[in-house]
Amino acid sequence: MGGFGAGLALAGMAGPAFAASRRIGYAIVGLGSYATRQIMPNFAGCDQAKLVALVSGTPAKLAQYGDQYDIPATHRYSYADFDRIRDNPDIDAVYVVLPNSLHAEYVIRAAQAGKHVLCEKPMAVSAAECEAMIAACAKAGKKLMIGYRSRFEPYNRLAIELARGGHVGPTRLITAEHGFSAQPNQWRLDKPLSGGGSLMDIGIYSLNAARYLTGEEPVEVSAVESTDRNDPRFVTVEDRINFMLRFPSGIIANCISSYSSGHNGYRVIGTQGWIDMEPATPYSGQSMTIRKDGVTAPRTLPAPAKNQFAGQLDHLAECIQRGTTPIVPGEEGLADLRVIEAIYRSAAEGRSVRMGA
Ligand code: NAD
Repeated sequence: MGGFGAGLALAGMAGPAFAASRRIGYAIVGLGSYATRQIMPNFAGCDQAKLVALVSGTPAKLAQYGDQYDIPATHRYSYADFDRIRDNPDIDAVYVVLPNSLHAEYVIRAAQAGKHVLCEKPMAVSAAECEAMIAACAKAGKKLMIGYRSRFEPYNRLAIELARGGHVGPTRLITAEHGFSAQPNQWRLDKPLSGGGSLMDIGIYSLNAARYLTGEEPVEVSAVESTDRNDPRFVTVEDRINFMLRFPSGIIANCISSYSSGHNGYRVIGTQGWIDMEPATPYSGQSMTIRKDGVTAPRTLPAPAKNQFAGQLDHLAECIQRGTTPIVPGEEGLADLRVIEAIYRSAAEGRSVRMGA
């Protein structure tokens, strides 16, 4: 998979400042928790992107956030109105922050309305949907990027550089753990909306980290699931599903995905030591420790000028202005969904699955 290496230098965080002729205007689709608490406030830290429109099924939210962010009534849309964004030249890009099973429909409709798209993870609930989304954006000549925010976070970027650069010797093993205790009564626990349980929502961080830390695509996958189906949270989706990935270079990744225990970290183990990140993928507060040749020491970085949220919003904006490809394009979301499907198959069939077989 070639996209990884090239992207590191292009992500607009380390290179010279890019002066765009004008800021790229975003419409946010879905005014839920992530959109309103993490994404919308962080436009304030952007220098290439601005918030220009809102899409919601709840008039009270359109009024509240529309007023808060100075979005005129002409730029507030319901889902029924959504396709009218086509006629609004202020909207360059659409950011889809809806429950997972709605991503495909809104990404495709956004592309058909002539807009670039940023879509939350997981990209969709199947690889086939991802392929349709990529095709729709390609047909419309529009960019498609997936919200893998950790790729715009300095500690994760350093971990990628160190791991792939052999800082602690060639990587032999990776452990990656992500999980939390899921609250009952939410769409994440309803398979038609979520597409699956912990793996779709949080285990995907373990998977994505194993892929970005190696820069490789797994060739073999094996998984074991454990779910208490008497727990009312887990009637339709899985709780824990642990998986192992074998990569072409021989690296093995051992990954945890859980909806009933707290985890957030990874460790890259090389022949001369390890790189540890815990927590690895929170909204802030990453912490890195490195053990090399018998010496263990923390590694700290200066605070970045832009946080990961502003970084990702500006990255797509910059790609639109420059005509370049995002470092986390639709193909990146598709690659994760292909492995996710193999993980579910392995767990269901009780055997390891060869990718592409
Ligand atoms: P949420 O439940 O807080 O928000 C979902 C929004 O979708 C709500 O405003 C809801 O009203 C709306 N919606 C529209 N149609 C709906 C329907 N048919 N059923 C249910 N809700 C409907 O969820 P969230 O935590 O904001 O997650 C939204 C997306 O963002 C998900 O894909 C999730 O994986 C992703 N997410 C990403 C991160 C990250 O760090 N990258 C963090 C949280 C969530």
